[in-house]
Amino acid sequence: MTQTLLSVENLRTCFQSEAGDVYAVDDVSFNINKGETLGLVGESGCGKSVTSLSIMRLIPTPPGKITSGKMIFKGKNLMDLSDEQIRRIRGNEIAMIFQEPMTSLNPVFSIGNQISEAIQTHQNLSRKQVLEKTISMLKLVGIPDPEKRVKEYPHQLSGGMRQRVMIAMALSCDPDLLIADEPSTALDVTIQAQILDLINDLQQRLNMSILLITHDFGVIAETADHVAVMYAGKIVEYTDVRTIFRRPLHPYTIGLLESLPTLKDINHHREKLKTIPGIVPDLLHVPPGCRFHDRCERATQECTLAEPTLDEVEPGHWVRCIHWNWERGRKA
Ligand code: SF4
Repeated sequence: MTQTLLSVENLRTCFQSEAGDVYAVDDVSFNINKGETLGLVGESGCGKSVTSLSIMRLIPTPPGKITSGKMIFKGKNLMDLSDEQIRRIRGNEIAMIFQEPMTSLNPVFSIGNQISEAIQTHQNLSRKQVLEKTISMLKLVGIPDPEKRVKEYPHQLSGGMRQRVMIAMALSCDPDLLIADEPSTALDVTIQAQILDLINDLQQRLNMSILLITHDFGVIAETADHVAVMYAGKIVEYTDVRTIFRRPLHPYTIGLLESLPTLKDINHHREKLKTIPGIVPDLLHVPPGCRFHDRCERATQECTLAEPTLDEVEPGHWVRCIHWNWERGRKA
């Protein structure tokens, strides 16, 4: 039976600026089931990373603030926890890996030192046990010769190896939820594939849940069970991974999928891929009505009148678009 590990309900995160309040995450809801991966997809500036930082309660206050919503993790609302309680959960029950390991690893400490610190903070182990666990974590993430590598410094490792170290550090306390923010983006393609394989493999072995943040639907296809597509701070489509590829309904999701190269493009040496015109709106000046309307091929006058709601248009398939059923040039 599916068990929900994290339920995010109507989350709103705001940043105050002199020009006004910016809601980077605006009424976002989703569930992450035990042992499953939820992919959070969208272009830069859509609110994906702010969502993950909100879950970790790492929003810098001020200028940021979670203004409303609930985040029920293992039955507890993370919003109700004290700073000390949330610190105990962070890195222990919920861990995070970032896009660029070089900026997250400290260049002046050995990798062994940094993984050991993560273990010592949350587990009551002797020095010998900490070292053994550190080496076993390096082994787990496929670092060759871990007994020797444990003494090396970040600059002595390749980008892929550094990302493996970050994963080892994140997993060192057996978290229930791993938040992976673009974990393979900074790596070249073959190493990217290895890191994604590693994350998939570890998820199955450790039965953890993953919130995977990415702008890349190729990564989603490889890893996710469910997908939430974000645009300008809102979820615009939310369903399981098969449905999102077989029957995407929101024009933004369709645009993102069409911008992926297909085998046909490669076979016919097509150099130009389809793109979505325009850019994500400045959240201080969101367009009236549907936030996507100035980039949307299907937009009508009606789209500018009121913000569409996120509706369950088919069982388990949620879409924020009044013309979701538009097919072959005909609107719903
Ligand atoms: Fe496009 Fe209108 Fe749907 Fe918005 S509501 S996504 S503008 S068709």
